[in-house]
Amino acid sequence: MQKTTFINLLMFLLLCFTSQAQLQSPEEYLKFKKGDRFLRHHQVVSYYEYVAAQNPSQVKLIQYGSTNEGRPLIAAVVASAENFAALEEIRTNNLKAIGLLDGKPSTRKQPAIAWMSYNVHGNESCGTNTAPFVIHELLNPNSARSKAILANTVVILDPSINPDGYDRYANWYNQKVGAKYNANAAAWEHQEPWPGGRFNHYIFDLNRDWAWQVQKESQERMALYRQWMPQLHADFHEQGVESPYYFSPAAKPYHEDITAWQREFQKIIGDYNKKDFDKNGWLYFSKERFDLLYPSYGDTYPTYNGAFGMTYEQGGSGRAGLGIVKRDGDTLTLKQRIDHHFSTSFACLDAISANADKAVTEFIKFHDNTSKNPIGPYKSYVIKTKGEEARVKEFLNYLDKEGFQYGVAGKDYMANGYSYHDDKAGFVKVEAEDVVFNLYQPRSMFLKILMEPKTMVEDSMTYDITSWSLPYAYGLKAYALKDRLNPAGKVNFENKITKAENAYAYLARWQSFSDLKFLSAIMQKGIKVRSAAKSFEIEGQTYPAGTLVITRTGNERLGAQLEKILTEEATKLGVGLTAVTTGMATKGSDFGSENVVFLKMPKVATVAGEGISTTGFGEVWHFFDQQIQYPITVLPENTLGSTNLAQFDVLILPGGNYNRILNESALGKIKEWVRNGGRLIAIENALKALAGKEGFELKAKEDEKKKESDESKLKIYGNAERESISEETPGSIYRVTMDTTHPLAFGYGNTYFSLVLEGAAYQYLNDGWNVGVTKSKDLIAGFAGVKAQEKLKNSLIWGVQDMGRGNVVYLANNPLFRGFWQNGKLLFGNAVFVLGN
Ligand SMILES: [Zn+2]
Repeated sequence: MQKTTFINLLMFLLLCFTSQAQLQSPEEYLKFKKGDRFLRHHQVVSYYEYVAAQNPSQVKLIQYGSTNEGRPLIAAVVASAENFAALEEIRTNNLKAIGLLDGKPSTRKQPAIAWMSYNVHGNESCGTNTAPFVIHELLNPNSARSKAILANTVVILDPSINPDGYDRYANWYNQKVGAKYNANAAAWEHQEPWPGGRFNHYIFDLNRDWAWQVQKESQERMALYRQWMPQLHADFHEQGVESPYYFSPAAKPYHEDITAWQREFQKIIGDYNKKDFDKNGWLYFSKERFDLLYPSYGDTYPTYNGAFGMTYEQGGSGRAGLGIVKRDGDTLTLKQRIDHHFSTSFACLDAISANADKAVTEFIKFHDNTSKNPIGPYKSYVIKTKGEEARVKEFLNYLDKEGFQYGVAGKDYMANGYSYHDDKAGFVKVEAEDVVFNLYQPRSMFLKILMEPKTMVEDSMTYDITSWSLPYAYGLKAYALKDRLNPAGKVNFENKITKAENAYAYLARWQSFSDLKFLSAIMQKGIKVRSAAKSFEIEGQTYPAGTLVITRTGNERLGAQLEKILTEEATKLGVGLTAVTTGMATKGSDFGSENVVFLKMPKVATVAGEGISTTGFGEVWHFFDQQIQYPITVLPENTLGSTNLAQFDVLILPGGNYNRILNESALGKIKEWVRNGGRLIAIENALKALAGKEGFELKAKEDEKKKESDESKLKIYGNAERESISEETPGSIYRVTMDTTHPLAFGYGNTYFSLVLEGAAYQYLNDGWNVGVTKSKDLIAGFAGVKAQEKLKNSLIWGVQDMGRGNVVYLANNPLFRGFWQNGKLLFGNAVFVLGN
C-alpha cells in the first residue's frame, strides 16, 4: 500500500468516525432530558435542520409549506447513502410504475417508501417529541436495525403535521407546569382550555381533512404526498389517558375494497408492533375502535391509494402533561409515551423493511389491477353540464387538486346508468358538453370510493360518517355507468362576460359558491348589489330568482371603475356576467321593482368559547375568514349577554351546548334584537337551545313512546353499545325537498342532498317557512340507526321564522360540515346575505 493511499484511507476513516460521533442526540443538542418537558415546534425543526446539515448524503429536508400562523411544515427524507444518491430516480420510478408519471421506470431495484406522520392532533403531543429520537436512531451508525431498514426502505418523517395546534398545547402547558409536574389529575395543567390543541389554527381537525384538503396544511402536505406515493403511512396519535395503546390490526368496519394483501399486512404489522410491548409488559389493544372506512383519515387515504395505512394511539393526549396518575394508581409519564411511539415507529419500519420487495410489487399490482379492471359495478361517470356549469366547475377544481383525468363526452348518445339525483337506474342522455371520466386511470380505487353512491358498511359501529359521495356533496346531476366511457376532449368552460357601453345593469346568476365569493368581493369594494326575488326575462335570456342585479344607479360614483371591478372579480372567480342596456324585463319584474331587493352589506358576528362546538365554530370562522374573505366578529361566549348586538345584522350560533350561555336574560336580549331586525342563524345542535322556548316556533320531535312488552324489557347487557347506535346517524345522506321560492333556497332545485349527522330531529314549523324538509322515504345513503330513521322522517332541515322585523334561521344540519360539503355553502350564504332584505 502506498503511503498517500494509506493516509487517504486514514483521513477517510477519521472523517467517518468524527462525523458519526458528532451527530448529537436530541437531548445533547437541545439540552434536555427525554420527557422532562415539551419541546416547542421550532426546537424540533432546528434539530431536524441540524441532522440534515450533518448528514448531507443521507437526509433531505423539505419545507413543503407553512401553517396559518407562519410555522414551517417540514419533512425529512432519510435513506442509505446508496439510495440517497438515486433519490430522484427512486421517487420517479415509483410514480412511473403506477402511471402517475409518463415513461418507464428504470431497472434499478426499488426500495419501499415509508412515511411517518406525527402529531396531526396538536395536543397528542408525544408524537412530535418522539420524532427527534426516531431520526437520530435511524441515522445511528452503530444500529444494525437502522441499517437494515435503510438498506431497502426510504423513510419520510414529518415531525409535526399540525404545528399551530401543537404549540398551542405545548406553550399553554409549559406556562401551567411548576418546577416539577403535578401528577394529580385535578391539577390545572391537566385541564386544557377551549378549544384545545387538537385542531389547527382555524379549529379544523386535520385528520378528517386528508381527502378534502380544505385546510392549508393538508393542501401543502398532500401535494408532497402525491409526489412520493409511499407504500406505508403511519399516523401517530394519542387517545384517553386510561386507554394504554392501540395499534393495528384495525377494527371493523373495513371498506369492502381493501385488498387481501392490505388486510394481511394489518396482521403482519401487528406481530411487529406487539414485540416490545409483550417483552416489556406494556398494555395495548388492537382490532377495536379504530376502523377503516371514512376516506379522509391518515390511515384510509393511504390505504385507498394502495398503501398500508396505520393508526397508532398512545394513551395520553391533552390531559396527560408530563405525568398523570391513572385510575389504577400508576403514573403515566411523557417519557413512557415517547418510548411507546418510538417502539412502534421502528416496529412499523421493521415490518415494511422485512417485506419491502413484496410491498413494492403488491403496490404496483394494486394500481395496475384497479386501473385496468376497476373495482365495483360502475366504471364511468357522467356529469350533466348544461345550466350547471358553475357547480361542475367547482367539482372539476377538486378533481384537478387530486390530479384525476376527465374530459367532455364529445357527442350525444344514450347510455344506461344509475342516477344519483333520482336514486335509481335508467337511461341517461349524454350530451356532447357533459363531463365524463372513468376509473381506467391511476388511483382508480380512491376515485371509485369518492364517487360510490352507497358505501357498504359491514359493521355499523363506526367512528365517523358513512357516506360522502361527491356528486351529492357538490350538488351535481350525475350518473354512474357500468360501461367504459372515454372522454373525447378537453373541458373548456368559457367564462361568459359581456360588456356594454352605457350598460344599465350587470347580471350574475346565483348558482354556486363562486357566486357567493363574487358577492362578498364586490360588496367589500363598495358596490351596491340587488337580488331578484323572482325569476325574470330580459334581452332574450331567462334569469332565475336570486340573480344578482348590479345597476349603474346607486354605483354612479364608481364611474368606469364599476365595470372594471366587476369584470376583474368575475374573471378571477370564474363567474359569468352579462351587461344589459335596459331595466325593463320582458317577463317578471323591472329592476326598480320591490321584487329586486337591495342587499344590505351585513355586519356579522358569531360566538366562540367553552360550550360551543370547537369544529362547528371553526367551520364558520374559516368560511368567512378564508373561503369568502368577509369580515366576521368573533364574540367570546361569556360576553354574549353584555355585548351591544345592535351593531350587528347577523348573529351565528354554531353547534354547541348553550345551556349556560343562553340563560333567560341573554336569550331575551337576543329575541329583542331579532324583533328589531336582527337575523339569528342557529346551526345543528344550537337548535336545542331555541326549541320549545317562548317566542321560538321550533319544536323537537319527542322520542317515540314505545309500548314495551315485558319481554322487550329484557335487554342484553353485552348489546348496550349496539343498541345505543339505533338512535344515531353518524353521517348519512338524506334527500331534502326545497321550497325554491324562498330566498334561503335561491340557487337550488327542488332537491338538496344533505349530510345528516345528528339523530335529533325537529317538527315542521307551524308558523314559519319550512324551506327544506325530509319526507317519509328520504334516506339515500349511509348508516342511520332504526330509531333515528323513524325520527328523521318528515322533519325540518332548513326553516325560517319571521320574528318582528327580523328572522330566525334554523339549520338543523350543518351545511359547512368540515368545509367539504360544497353544495351547502351557497345556502349558508343565502342565510347571511340574501334573506331578510
Ligand atoms: Zn388523534
